Amino acid sequence: MPGERRGTGGWEELLLSDCDVASGAEWRSELYAITVAQFNRAADATGLEPEMRTRLLEPRRSLVVNFPVRMDDREVRSFTGYRVQHTLAIGPTKGGIRYAPGVSLGECAALAMLMTFKCALLGLPFSGAKGGVRCDPNRLSSDELERVTRRYAAELIPVIGPDRDIPAPDMGTGEREMAWFMDTYSQQVGYAVPAVVTGKPLVLGGTVGRRSATGMGVVICLEAALERMGRPLGGCRVAIQGFGNVGAVIADELHARGAVIVGLSDVSGGIADPDGLDVPTLLAWSREGSRFLRDWPNARHIGRTEVLELPCDVLVPAALERQIDADRAARVCCKLVVEAANGPTTTEADAILAARGIAVVPDILANAGGVTVSYFEWVQDQQKFFWGAEEVAQRMRQLMLAAFERVIESAERLDVSWRTAALSVAIERVAEAARMRSLYP
Ligand code: NAD
Repeated sequence: MPGERRGTGGWEELLLSDCDVASGAEWRSELYAITVAQFNRAADATGLEPEMRTRLLEPRRSLVVNFPVRMDDREVRSFTGYRVQHTLAIGPTKGGIRYAPGVSLGECAALAMLMTFKCALLGLPFSGAKGGVRCDPNRLSSDELERVTRRYAAELIPVIGPDRDIPAPDMGTGEREMAWFMDTYSQQVGYAVPAVVTGKPLVLGGTVGRRSATGMGVVICLEAALERMGRPLGGCRVAIQGFGNVGAVIADELHARGAVIVGLSDVSGGIADPDGLDVPTLLAWSREGSRFLRDWPNARHIGRTEVLELPCDVLVPAALERQIDADRAARVCCKLVVEAANGPTTTEADAILAARGIAVVPDILANAGGVTVSYFEWVQDQQKFFWGAEEVAQRMRQLMLAAFERVIESAERLDVSWRTAALSVAIERVAEAARMRSLYP
């Protein structure tokens, strides 16, 4: 017999009032609101039951840490870090670590949710997670970054592990930070654990092809989308916002395949040339001394967001979220948007782009090459058997194109946008797993 409920408990006033911690308030952020709106649209399209919506919307587990770090000038500064695990429905959780001034619990919650759906769309045995430290990595020395990374990694030890939650690089982090992260975890357990992170240097159990994987995946999707539109990649005019891990690979690869890169930007500013930028020379120059684009002497200089409005065939946001808002969506001048960044388009902008007939390859499909090759890295670490470059590239291409086809099929069947179609495929898979596992206890 279930126990009886005791009835009124004296909390009515508080429950009825608009109390400080309203349901879901913890996760509130603009990106979370956008992600929820996208989720709801796909959930409507697939007829997802209300109970499952609640289960899949709120993140399962979150850790917020504040930790002190001694800076180079001997002062002690406090940093805030996060790790959000969105659901544990399928496999361990997986997702990047971001170092940026805007990192917050709400941002991590949204990005963790997107990771769940990205993994599900690609058919990878992971659920989503995301984490980061609120800081400006450009203002920290390499020694300070190492101390921040090691202390953050140590704080995360109770919730991460090769079968639990596997971090990877994201904005502001790369192979170097992953090596420090792997070392910190390994020092704690007493032996080397390469599979605790992906995106590591090769010598520590990284995989060939990971560094360029996200950008290469974007290029595969971009080409597949152009093919559906009956347009060749050769001669196609492309503008790219972001010139980091992802944006630089996209620019380089597209240039090599005959596309014309008409504009590029980074945090310092943008550059434009309607006849096409000399990407290989630019890349060699920027890598020489970690230079910013504002110092490139051979092109017209524009603002860092102006690049989004350059006349082009394809626009690739590859920097931050919420870069294409309603105002900008009305002004972009392209036929196709390929979302290399996570969450670059607001809900209102999405509707405006659709009304203007501009197709959008959504983030969870376009930038999934990174997590796909991260999955390969994790598999190779577990098996202690490493693959060649050809095998990694070919397997990634195969999974990306299969996901692309699933999205097209779903878009036609449900008569929805590519974004809603991609999320529908992913949500159906995660919901099925959650239903099969039923409820505990
Ligand atoms: P990164 O830190 O290597 O590069 C970010 C780039 O954006 C830099 O060139 C930076 O200068 C530029 N930038 C920052 N703020 C800007 C602004 N306000 N205007 C214009 N440019 C600005 O990061 P990344 O790894 O290339 O990630 C870029 C995006 O791709 C992020 O949204 C990230 O979540 C997403 N992503 C990355 C990966 C990966 O494997 N690294 C995987 C999936 C998705």
